[in-house]
Amino acid sequence: MAKIAFLGLGQMGTPMATRLLHSGHELTVWNRTPDRAKPLVAAGATVARSPAEAGAGAAFAITMLATPEALTEVVLGKQGLVKGLGPGQVYIDMSTVGPHTVRSIAARFSDGVAVVDAPVRGSVSQAAEGRLEIFVGASDKDFERVRPILESLGSVGHVGGLGAGAAMKLVANLALGASIAAVGEALALGSALGLGRAPLLNMLEGSQLGPAVRAKRANIESSHYPPNFKLRHAAKDLRLVIEAAAAVDRDLKVSAAARAWLDAAVERGSADLDYSAVVATIMGEEPTS
Ligand code: NAP
Repeated sequence: MAKIAFLGLGQMGTPMATRLLHSGHELTVWNRTPDRAKPLVAAGATVARSPAEAGAGAAFAITMLATPEALTEVVLGKQGLVKGLGPGQVYIDMSTVGPHTVRSIAARFSDGVAVVDAPVRGSVSQAAEGRLEIFVGASDKDFERVRPILESLGSVGHVGGLGAGAAMKLVANLALGASIAAVGEALALGSALGLGRAPLLNMLEGSQLGPAVRAKRANIESSHYPPNFKLRHAAKDLRLVIEAAAAVDRDLKVSAAARAWLDAAVERGSADLDYSAVVATIMGEEPTS
C-alpha cells in the first residue's frame, strides 16, 4: 500500500479519495475549504495545512480540481504542491484542464518527479463505485507505476504520452456538450411544432442521441437538475475544446454552438446546476435544483 496525497475534495475528489482510503492506502488530504476534509479525516485520513505539506513524503500526489486556474494556484502558488515534491515522487493530475495546462505545469516540477495526466469519464456514482474510465497520458514506465493506484478508481487506459489523457478527455467532453445541446434543440423544435414531451423523448431515446436522453430524461421531465457534473464545468470544458482546437488550427462549429448554449445557461444562473440544465435554457424553461 502507498502513501498518497489527495488535493481537491469536491464532488468527484471526495468519493475518489474515499475509495483510495478504503483500498488501504495511507492518505493525506488538502482542500481550499478545509471543512470539506472532515469526513475523510473521520475515516482515517490526515489533513495537511498546505498543498506543499500534503505532498511532502508522499509516494504519489493526486489533484482533482475545478479548472486550469485552480490547478495552477494549487500547484504553483504560495506553498504550492511543486514545493512539496522531489525526485522519486509521482504527480498525477486527474482534473479536466486540457493538454496545454498539463504540459506547462509538468515543466515546473524538478527533474526526477514523474508527471502523469489521468482525467476521468464518469460522474459521482461511478467515482464512489470505482467505475471511472481513466485516460492516462504518461511514458510506459510511469504508466506502470501509476496503474495499480488508479485501478482502485476504475478502468485504466494508456492513451499516449504526457498530455494525451487530457486531450482524450477534451474530445470526450466535446461529444458530451454537443449531444446535450442537440437534445435541447431537438426538444425545442419538437415542442414548438406542437409535439408532446413524452413522445419526443421516446423517439429521441431510439435516436443517435439515445444515451444522452436516457442519462438525463428524469431531469428533463421533472425540470429538476441537481448537479452531478456542474454546468460551469461543462462550459469550462467547451472553452478548453475551442482553445485546444484553435491551437491546432481546427474550426469546430458544432462545439462553438454547444459552448454558446452552455455560456448562455451560465448567464441565466444555471452554473451550479447539472450540465443537462442547458436543455431548459434552450427550451426557454426555468430549471431548478
Ligand atoms: P467541484 O465539486 O466543483 O470541486 C472543485 C474542487 O476544486 C474543490 O475541491 C474546490 O475547492 C477546488 N477549487 C476550485 N477553485 C479553486 C481554487 N482557486 N483554488 C483551490 N481549489 C479550488 O468539481 P468536481 O465535480 O469534483 O470536478 C473536479 C474536476 O473533475 C473538474 O475539472 C471537472 O471538470 C472534472 N470532472 C467532473 C465530473 C463530474 O461528473 N462532476 C466528471 C468528470 C470530470 P473548494 O471545496 O474550496 O471549493
